Amino acid sequence: MSVSIHPVVDSGIAPGRSDFSGGKLHCRCRNQRVEVGVNAPPAHNHLCGCTRCWKPEGALFSQVAAVPRGDLVVSANGVKLKVLDVSAAIQRHICTACGVHMYARVEDEQHPFFGFDFIHPELSDAEGWPEPTFATFVASIVESGASPAEVAKLRKRLEELGLEIYDGPPPALTELHSQRRETL
Ligand SMILES: [Zn+2]
Ligand SMILES: [Zn+2]
Repeated sequence: MSVSIHPVVDSGIAPGRSDFSGGKLHCRCRNQRVEVGVNAPPAHNHLCGCTRCWKPEGALFSQVAAVPRGDLVVSANGVKLKVLDVSAAIQRHICTACGVHMYARVEDEQHPFFGFDFIHPELSDAEGWPEPTFATFVASIVESGASPAEVAKLRKRLEELGLEIYDGPPPALTELHSQRRETL
């Protein structure tokens, strides 16, 4: 199949390192790159087929990892960041120079994803990020131009890769959230 799901899974999924504890992300500017440090292991990593998440060129899905909000720090050139849409529930902080989405944050404490920031691990040189384990908004890739036949093929391929498939939002996060509340 010539269509790219995402480079992280296109040639098979390599498992992440069990002792992975975080890494730095950089935007794609040549100079004065925005740097974001993640100082904890991600809660999970997944693929998203929605049209709003940042994705590398040619990929139909974005790769999105959830990290605890308190463990993400903008460590360099944060002045280049702006919120793409301040009215959105998930606020995407993007580099105004290169357009890369550095992290997305939920500010509404009632939102089921509150407490997590969302990042794109391929912006990091660190090795060992956890591998994606499920795919969300799979049906939405038609909005990115995929034909129904391509969607059917993609579903099959995602299944072969062992990824759980959801046509809506990520259920794991909702679960994580309820676990987190119980411990508060
Ligand atoms: Zn940039
Ligand atoms: Zn998305």
